Amino acid sequence: MTYYRDLSPYEYGESDRPMVNVGWLGRGREFPTGPVAPTVVAGLARLAVDERNVYRGWHECEFCDAESPIEFPGPEGSLLLGHAEVHITGPDGVVYAAPTLILHYIEAHEYRPPTEFLSAVAQMTEGRLVERGDRWELPMGGRVVEQCLVDHAFSLRCDEAHLIRIEGPMTYWDSNGWPHQVDPDSEPVGMGVLLQLLRRTVVSAEAAGGLQIEFDDQSRLQVEPDDYEAWSYAGPDGMRVVSLPGGDLAIWQRKP
Ligand SMILES: [Zn+2]
Repeated sequence: MTYYRDLSPYEYGESDRPMVNVGWLGRGREFPTGPVAPTVVAGLARLAVDERNVYRGWHECEFCDAESPIEFPGPEGSLLLGHAEVHITGPDGVVYAAPTLILHYIEAHEYRPPTEFLSAVAQMTEGRLVERGDRWELPMGGRVVEQCLVDHAFSLRCDEAHLIRIEGPMTYWDSNGWPHQVDPDSEPVGMGVLLQLLRRTVVSAEAAGGLQIEFDDQSRLQVEPDDYEAWSYAGPDGMRVVSLPGGDLAIWQRKP
């Protein structure tokens, strides 16, 4: 990978606007390290689905012998890193251009991008629903399931402020890929299998009438829309998504 200092002017590929470099690491060059919040990493993975300046070949990691292309868990299955960039616009209008390998550098090599870049990612993804075609991503990626609640529904709570409540029948594929049909309307003990979700990290949660949530142990939960409110999501700042009878979504969120 060509090395560029963080926050230097971008010049690697085509650009119709000024951008600055982030995450163009190279062998033999020092880079800052430190913790990056899992929600920010998940947010960056969401944004990296929108690949920019796609290259012809694949760049490898120069710091380890990870097989190229390097895979990274993303909202639509694995992202393949190393042949494109992710462009992020900060609240002050600065545009950051990073190679998608930045996700691997953060995860495997403890690289810590500049704070203003991390803030821009957080601003764009945290606490916001992201529309992608006919589906919406709930801001759950990177969050840990802290509570499983059972009444006449099954609910998952992450970070206090994020609650998903499921009243309709669902399918849970456990980490071995075995499907379990769970109906909150039947015997409560049937929901026991879902307790495996406690303390798991959400990789992505996507709504398109139905709801699909993926977890870090490869397990996933799917709810189909129904003729009543099959599921709902409540987040911070009054953010709310409800699966309406028939499968349309009702969405509330503050203006950006
Ligand atoms: Zn590496």
